[in-house]
Amino acid sequence: MLIYNSLSRKKEEFVPNVEGKVNMYTCGPTVYHYAHIGNLRSYIMEDILEKYLRYLGYDVKRVMNITDVGHLTSDADEGEDKMLKGAKREKKTVMEIAKFYTDAFFADCKKLNIKTPDVVAPATECIDSFIEVITSLIEKGYAYEAGGNIYFDTSKLKQYYVFNDFKEDDLAVGVREGVEEDTNKRNKADFVLWFTKSKFDDQELKWDSPWGVGYPGWHIECSCISMKNLGEYLDIHCGGIDNAFPHHTNEIAQSEAYVGHKWCNYWFHVHHLNTNSGKMSKSSGEFLTVSLLEQKGYNPLVYRMFCLQSHYRKSLVFSYENLDNTVTAYNKLTARIAALIAQNDTAPVDEAAADALRAGFKEALDNDLNTSLAITALYDLLKADTNPATKLALIEEYDTVLGLDLIEAAKKQVKPQEAAPVSDDPFIAEIEEMIQKRKEAKAAKDYATADAIRKALADKGVTLIDTPQGTKYQIN
Ligand code: AMP
Ligand code: ZN
Repeated sequence: MLIYNSLSRKKEEFVPNVEGKVNMYTCGPTVYHYAHIGNLRSYIMEDILEKYLRYLGYDVKRVMNITDVGHLTSDADEGEDKMLKGAKREKKTVMEIAKFYTDAFFADCKKLNIKTPDVVAPATECIDSFIEVITSLIEKGYAYEAGGNIYFDTSKLKQYYVFNDFKEDDLAVGVREGVEEDTNKRNKADFVLWFTKSKFDDQELKWDSPWGVGYPGWHIECSCISMKNLGEYLDIHCGGIDNAFPHHTNEIAQSEAYVGHKWCNYWFHVHHLNTNSGKMSKSSGEFLTVSLLEQKGYNPLVYRMFCLQSHYRKSLVFSYENLDNTVTAYNKLTARIAALIAQNDTAPVDEAAADALRAGFKEALDNDLNTSLAITALYDLLKADTNPATKLALIEEYDTVLGLDLIEAAKKQVKPQEAAPVSDDPFIAEIEEMIQKRKEAKAAKDYATADAIRKALADKGVTLIDTPQGTKYQIN
């Protein structure tokens, strides 16, 4: 499989460290509010990556953190802790907020068919391992104490800006409007590993540490949770594109300083979902959540399909008009599958035809996870000259990766068995026609007509008996 690696800025053949096994890490949500559908675009595309690796036969272990402490309103260690901000907004404790929005996040994931990672680790449960790694970084000379906080010293690295050609002078940290420069830092790009001196009122969650009572920085969480669960060699690290700098850049800096060798081989970044007015946000404009889409009558899996229709390395604009086009596409697709199911084909799967068709699907996903071409492969399959049983078997197989519940949705549309043919006997045919009319009247809640039909039949000596299987009759 070819995959674009943000580190080399090229598509590369994916080769894991250990044959047949993949160690995968995903930056989890900051649980101070609901996830917006932009956040969930990242998780949908990462889910497809994981499921495709499994489809290819890899034994995948995937780990995700839950950021419940340390993520400040600016990713560069400035501003207020997002969790504290959420707690104040809702007049609850930080842990109450964390529990509520973690549950809400996984409920959204379930609706979108996003698999829960093998390990999910809240940062607040991993404090010991943060302290252990920070202690080692200080001992190795990569970290220093200043003004009560512990900072990572980026000047100790041969190359700090690994993803792009940032220059230190271009870095806006410290000169952004409303953000004061942190004079404790030796270098502008240095970042906090452990806070004991907050830059905001008060931090609710604090732990004892060798450097005083405090709390961890956001970046150290992901490095430690990854290394603790997946070891010193990571195959693939995922996140939204905004995480590349400074978050992932800092993760690489501290992890490689700690382990003393290259840490992660492939970096997978999902580009943003935007609205017509720009970047998606939780604080301005319509706060687009899965629940909001449901309230408006959209099936969450239609949003999943909407994401799959474009490439993860292109930014995507959300509009209801675009989503409506996907509703139409999803309904047409499932209607065609329903027509296949209705044929009740019991023929065996044509393996040769299946192999040839499957090649198209794999070719799409092998090329840097081209999900829109994978959906085209699904249409090609529907048009193909092979039996319905083969088509249905392949749709089910593709859907283990696509996660669109295609067969289930189609089954709901399959029409009930055709009604029995009309009898040759005119009296029986009349009775059956009247029973059908009565059924339609009842469905339309026109009980007067329904009762009138029952009476008309009784006058002809026909008694109706309503059963769970339908209306039966007896000729007296
Ligand atoms: P957060 O909860 O803010 O830590 O973000 C969770 C994930 O969503 C991270 O991987 C972000 O990079 C990603 N993300 C944030 N905004 C967007 C967006 N508009 N589109 C896609 N992914 C996003
Ligand atoms: Zn992270």
